[in-house]
Amino acid sequence: MKIYKFGGASINSVERIKNTGNIISHAKDEKLLVVISAMGKTTNALEKVAELYYAGKKEEALDVFSQLKESHLNTLKYLTVTQWQAAEAQLKEFFTEIEWLLHDKPVRNYDYYYDQIVCCGELLSTAIIAHYLQEQKLKVKWLDARDIIRTDDNFRDAAIDWEFTGKQMEEKVAPLYKDYDVIITQGFIGSTDENESVTLGREGSDYTAAIFANLMNGDSVTIWKDVDAVMSADPKKYPDASIIASLSFTEVIEMAYYGAQVIHPKTIKPLQNKNIPLYVKSFLDPSLPGTVISKETNKNLPPIIVNKEKQVIIQFKTKDFSFMEDRPIHQLHELFKDVKIKPNLSQNTAISLLCCFDDHAEKIDKLAAVASEIFDVTVEKGLILLTIRHYNEETLEKLSKNKLVVLEQKTTETTQMVVR
Ligand code: ASP
Ligand code: MG
Repeated sequence: MKIYKFGGASINSVERIKNTGNIISHAKDEKLLVVISAMGKTTNALEKVAELYYAGKKEEALDVFSQLKESHLNTLKYLTVTQWQAAEAQLKEFFTEIEWLLHDKPVRNYDYYYDQIVCCGELLSTAIIAHYLQEQKLKVKWLDARDIIRTDDNFRDAAIDWEFTGKQMEEKVAPLYKDYDVIITQGFIGSTDENESVTLGREGSDYTAAIFANLMNGDSVTIWKDVDAVMSADPKKYPDASIIASLSFTEVIEMAYYGAQVIHPKTIKPLQNKNIPLYVKSFLDPSLPGTVISKETNKNLPPIIVNKEKQVIIQFKTKDFSFMEDRPIHQLHELFKDVKIKPNLSQNTAISLLCCFDDHAEKIDKLAAVASEIFDVTVEKGLILLTIRHYNEETLEKLSKNKLVVLEQKTTETTQMVVR
């Protein structure tokens, strides 16, 4: 069995859904499990619905939701004829569930409602696509991932119950292949043992694909994207970025850790643990080879550049000349935990610590305010953090040209610099 994953961009129009359908039907002799995200920017719109609802702005929430309803029904109209009625009925069930919820006053915490509302994006997109493919006479089964993926109740970042989920797959998913060739299910969502919907964190659909692959012993996972392959840098910023034909699991997990937006960081472990290769391919041109990610090490990697903008550097300096190494550094790490912020890079001198953070304005302000009770604090915003794996001098020189390097750290494999 193979696992395919399609993201929001691959299904953001009628044309693109047809294209996705083509890719799925070309896998004819394979048993497929297809994991799909919400269409286009649906998740962002649903986040808006959740925020408005929780802020007590019920009418506005219903308004934003009704726009989503309309656009999904519209898409469906262009894709189905014989399946239209059944599909419309299914969509309307999902709509009603959300609208009922929106009519009540919130009594639980925000994250709970977020998940009950936001999970609907994937349910709608998969329902549309499954009916479209049924209309194309494929033997397709739509599957509610919430009946299979069991999690804890840490809403918005739920953790998988691997044992229970594995059993569900064995008992409920595997037997479906007797009658069907393709199973269509949702990325990003699951449910608790009390049947409450949960989400696995933004961009979590890649992770869902890896969970299915791991627990169903898939032969491979293919993530279909709007890029030709994994690139050595963002081609919009670095015109000489090159395609990378193969990468090891280790390399990808490091890249993701440093902020490369190739693949959701949690995706690699379930695949590496079962040695399941991951292909990144272009849905715009499936004939291109793409990138394969596996246990094989690629010894000819070019320098790989990860670019993180909107960075802040904070310097914390002890007021009384205490050494950083002693108590102060622990105090600071406690503060980071309280504010829920993690430095991307840090470096200390005798009496100061320099840290580079993502610029979450509220958190940064709070951190600076609290820390200034104990330290002299200076904040500099608007910086860029560059991480270069497999660097060479030429690349470093090119990247730092006309820029001021504020902070730099090197290991044999990786250079990181914060530049102004
Ligand atoms: N639809 C979700 C999101 O936009 C999950 C995903 O696309 O992977 O974050
Ligand atoms: Mg997505």
